[in-house]
Amino acid sequence: MPGQILDGSKIREQIFAELKQEIPRLAAQGVRPGLAAVLVGENPASQLYVKSKIAACEELGMASWMHTPPADASTDHMLQLVRDLNRDDKVDGILIQLPLPSQINSKWVLEAVAPAKDVDGFHPVNMGMLVSNRPGLVACTPAGCMELLRRYNIPIEGANAVVLGRSDIVGKPMALLLMHANATVTICHSKTRDLPDVVRRADILVAAMGKAGFVQPDWIRPGAAVIDVGTNKVTDAAEAEQLLRNFPQRLEKFRAKGNVLIGDVHPDALFTAGALSPVPGGVGPMTITMLMSNTVKAARLRRLQHG
Ligand code: NAP
Repeated sequence: MPGQILDGSKIREQIFAELKQEIPRLAAQGVRPGLAAVLVGENPASQLYVKSKIAACEELGMASWMHTPPADASTDHMLQLVRDLNRDDKVDGILIQLPLPSQINSKWVLEAVAPAKDVDGFHPVNMGMLVSNRPGLVACTPAGCMELLRRYNIPIEGANAVVLGRSDIVGKPMALLLMHANATVTICHSKTRDLPDVVRRADILVAAMGKAGFVQPDWIRPGAAVIDVGTNKVTDAAEAEQLLRNFPQRLEKFRAKGNVLIGDVHPDALFTAGALSPVPGGVGPMTITMLMSNTVKAARLRRLQHG
């Protein structure tokens, strides 16, 4: 029997409904949460991402601003813009859409964002708050994975959790969040030995590696909960046929379109796992949801004394 689908779109609707209750309550106290998005240049994928973030703000009745410095903007130009946004009391969240063009020092720009407005949770101050389990702004993708687990009542306390990947934006914060929720956490990376055996011990598996269909169905402990963060565009026909052999409708779509989005976990893991977040439609919708939720949280923490 296939495992339960951890439906990110459904959880997004739940969280949006909660935010739609909270935002008017904040507005009644004189606080309208607002997000400033900074998009440099004309990368079409980045333009699409920023557009969907602005649309989400509008849907929720939040304020939003879009800043579009030219593709040849300097680091100084970006630092000045960030300082202005830091000073603007109406701006609760600052989002610097990555990647930035190569002439801009991304690290300097990200570190210039005031930690209280760092809704991406990338600032070292917020990372430090997470390490010591103090309230701060947490990176959106791992925060979204935790919401998926919690809202589907996946037991975390005492569970063996295995995180594949140790990036600053997904793997590391994910491992910390699971540890703070009292899971026993193993972090794996490209030098990990006997990966299939480590994965077989997982009650909860989070895969964030960037390798299409890498985790094989027989690595998954029967009944385990699997959160698939990977988003990999597959264009090779033989690879798509192999990955989607049990999903004829998706294969049809691939044949028509020439590409398909595949997670880091082989789609057949659905028949071994107890619960699994699909790609697309699992973690993806949660990332933007947590950006909205972080912006509201940032407004509450910064502008209302009682937080
Ligand atoms: P990343 O910075 O490239 O990190 C990948 C991690 O996977 C690294 O720690 C790497 O180990 C590890 N890894 C690579 N090959 C491995 C192997 N064969 N065995 C074990 N570990 C291996 O990637 P990321 O930014 O964390 O993103 C990971 C994936 O999540 C990507 O597909 C990305 O597109 C996706 N993503 C999705 C969302 C979303 O909203 N759905 C958001 C963010 C990211 P080393 O450290 O040893 O190199």
